[in-house]
Amino acid sequence: MHDEPGPGLHNGEERGATFEDLAAFLQRPEPDGYPVQVVRECVCRSCGGRAFEVAVMADEAARRTCLACRETEFIADSEEYWDDDAEADYCCACLCGGEEFAAAVGFSLREDGDVRWVYVGLRCLACGALGLYEDWKINYGPSAFLLDRA
Ligand SMILES: [Zn+2]
Ligand SMILES: [Zn+2]
Repeated sequence: MHDEPGPGLHNGEERGATFEDLAAFLQRPEPDGYPVQVVRECVCRSCGGRAFEVAVMADEAARRTCLACRETEFIADSEEYWDDDAEADYCCACLCGGEEFAAAVGFSLREDGDVRWVYVGLRCLACGALGLYEDWKINYGPSAFLLDRA
């Protein structure tokens, strides 16, 4: 569980059509949350695809599967924390039932440029609903390399 505040966003109350919409959603200031300075779109490292199924482990990790080529890739440092035995329980689904998403990762940075917190935002490809599906703390450095692992 968190011992520090996340952004406190509410899933499904807003809709969008583009990466920019999802980025704005992730970057909206929240009174008790950390600022998100950088948002990176998730793009399949194998085929360039931008539609995914996404599985998460609470407060720890996220993994996305490209709908075009079925390649599975981990977001940020998730590979280190992933538990294969538990993965079936954590498939992300929109309130509409959709399980196919465009995805982006918001990064909150420390003053020295290291990553402090990671936020996984998804845009449902069926209904456009925007949601924050998982977030977790990065408590080590250097960690700026995680910016390239959306
Ligand atoms: Zn792909
Ligand atoms: Zn939906």
